[in-house]
Formats: sequence, C-alpha cells, structure tokens
Amino acid sequence: MDKKALLKKLKPLIIVAAVVLIAVIAVVNAIRIGLGEGRRASEVLPAQPDTEYPLAVYYVDVGQGDGIVVKCEDTVLVIDGGEREEADTMVRFLESVDADQIDCYIATHPHSDHIGAAAGIFAAMNVRAVMMTSFSEINMPTTKSFERLQTAIENRKSEVIFAEAGETYTFGPLTLEVFAPVEETADYNNMSIVFRLTYGKNTFMFTGDAALESEALMLYRGYDLRADVLKVAHHGSSSSTSRDFLEAVDPVLAVISCGKNNDNGHPHRETLALLNEEGIEYRRTDENGTVTVYGDGRNIFLKGD
Ligand SMILES: [Zn+2]
Repeated sequence: MDKKALLKKLKPLIIVAAVVLIAVIAVVNAIRIGLGEGRRASEVLPAQPDTEYPLAVYYVDVGQGDGIVVKCEDTVLVIDGGEREEADTMVRFLESVDADQIDCYIATHPHSDHIGAAAGIFAAMNVRAVMMTSFSEINMPTTKSFERLQTAIENRKSEVIFAEAGETYTFGPLTLEVFAPVEETADYNNMSIVFRLTYGKNTFMFTGDAALESEALMLYRGYDLRADVLKVAHHGSSSSTSRDFLEAVDPVLAVISCGKNNDNGHPHRETLALLNEEGIEYRRTDENGTVTVYGDGRNIFLKGD
C-alpha cells in the first residue's frame, strides 16, 4: 500500500480522533466554568460569634459618604473615610480593630464625602502608601479636601501609587485589580477608582461613586468583574448600577453606604428595586450601622442581621 492509499484509509480515523479530542476539551472547559474555577461564594453565611476570620471588611457608618476598613492578618487598607468631621469616627474605629498603621489608603475620587476625613486619619496614624487617580493639569482638583490630602501625603511621606485600569497591586495577602477609571474625564464621580479585592477565593468590588458611563467603559473593556460582595456605587444613586454592570459583578451581597435621611434621597428606589429583582441581599449603613463582612478565603460571612 503506498503512502497516499494509507492516508486515504486513515482519514476517517483521523477525523473521528479530532472530533473526540474537541469534545473532550469542551467537556473539560464546561466543568471548569461550571465550577467557576473554584471561585466565589454561592451564598453569604452568618458570622459565628467568637470566631476569628482572617479577613474583615468593615463598611463603617460615616453618615453620607464612604469609609471602609479592610483588615487581613496584619495588612490594613482604608478606602475613603467620609466627610472631614468623620475623621474621629474612622480613627476610633481603626483603633477598635487594633489597626495602628495603614498599608494603603485608597482615595477613590476627590469629593469631600470620600476624602474629607483623610487628613485627620493621616494625622493619627502612619500611612505607608496612597492609591489615587492621576489627573492631568486641566482636571486637577482644587478643593480644600484634595489640598489637605496632598499636604497629609507630603507630611507622612507616603508612597503615591496612581491606579491604572487593568493593573494588579498586592498588599500582603490581598490583591487589588483596578478596572476604572478607564479614561480621564472632568466628572470626578466617573474618575472613581473601581477595583476588586481578592483574598483566596473571597472577592469584594469597590466602586466609589462611579456612574453609568464608567460602568459602560469597564463592560466594553471586557473585564471579568465578578465579585462576591459589591459596594453599591454612589450611595445607591440611580445614576450608577446599571443592570448590565450588576449582572456582570453578580454579587451574593451588596452594601450601600449612605446617611440617614440624606439630602440626595440615597439610596434611590430604582437601585433598591433592581437589587430586589436580581435577588441580591443587601445591607445599608443608614439602617444597619457599620456593616461587617468576613472572609476565610473560601466563604463570606455577614456579622449580625
Ligand atoms: Zn459620594
């Protein structure tokens, strides 16, 4: 039998082998995706009293604003901090969880309900690094809160990290993946740093006050935005949290940080309706006070009820 004839005879076998191989790859991929590559919690569990969890995320009640403390082993991150008069609340809270220094302070964007308390926090404890957005000259914030933050950074000689969408940063056992801002804009809400914090299989999305435009850019970039817990953007405003963004994050728990009877009517009823429609459990600092979520690298636990 010459080579040509042999090849002709083997052709159906080669085709069958190729089809089987493709099928096997498809099944393996389906199982991998089905298991979510072992990532994320499928439900939020009640935290057990007297149990120490390695990761704690505190959405501190700072009234109308955001003030979040992350503590994992010896690593401490602070995200925003609320208005200037909330500095004491934040410092007392940090002390209550035995945090005596901050590895990274993340200033999501330069509005006072986010960075107002920063100078007071910096005055009370050492801050090794600050993550912020880089602004070109034309969009450089000129507010008092921003100036005070700049002075505090200089006084502490903190390292400044400019967040870049698509980049990953590591602080001790924690990984931060930055998704926004994708583009510079004069709208500071849409300049909010949006990032996912990961500890083992625990994932938390932080959004500052990013609005629909920023969400659309993140979705357009095709980032994998899934996270167990979502800090609802802009205190639950309806100008944030599109259905597409919420479905892309697909959280098991959402947290809204806002003040009692605030002037903006946050959270907006459209946002709450969307969370209810999507079957996402949520807590809000105006009703629940400080919201505490723990992680053990596998599951997510919510303190109290
Ligand atoms: Zn805000």
